[in-house]
Amino acid sequence: MTGSPLVGVLALQGDVREHATMLQRSGARVAQVRSAEQLGGLQGLVIPGGESTTMALLAERWGLLEPLRSAVQAGLPVYGSCAGMIMLANEILDAKAGQQVIGGLDVTVRRNAFGRQVDSFEIDLDMPVLGAQPFHAVFIRAPRVERVGPSVEILAELPGSIVAIRQDRILATAFHPELTEDDRIHALFIEMTRN
Ligand code: GLN
Repeated sequence: MTGSPLVGVLALQGDVREHATMLQRSGARVAQVRSAEQLGGLQGLVIPGGESTTMALLAERWGLLEPLRSAVQAGLPVYGSCAGMIMLANEILDAKAGQQVIGGLDVTVRRNAFGRQVDSFEIDLDMPVLGAQPFHAVFIRAPRVERVGPSVEILAELPGSIVAIRQDRILATAFHPELTEDDRIHALFIEMTRN
């Protein structure tokens, strides 16, 4: 497909506006998604960073959880950053009791895994899929991927922590590219919506 793909941003909670801005800058048309109907006609969907427990509760309350699961299972390209990565994991550790996920990624993710003393940090990350220039990654109470299934591609790692992954049409980062000026990850995702 050529032209501008229509990419939704799940707009229940979190840094929706930052993702929308970055997607538009990278050549997508953007729609905010707050209902199952709004999932129709999208070529891709972003689950933003924020707070996964709140996002999951709102998704459940607004009748979006099952439609989101169906859309991901049907192959809609999805990108999750931070809380979005947690929402897309099949299994989460240190979850709130009863915390629901959308799932789709054959991974186990631990919430708030980087410890209290370093709740937030920034680091230049090697991410070969983006080219030679490192990506300045912002981590805020970030999750860590602790197990990956055989079909999960590891796109970036810190010592002892996997922080960016892709499985088929699902992309996820533990950090927040939407809070930087570097749009290479959004561009990579837009490429995924075209295939
Ligand atoms: N710790 C948050 C959660 O569990 C994620 C933090 C973030 O998205 N910056 O949802």
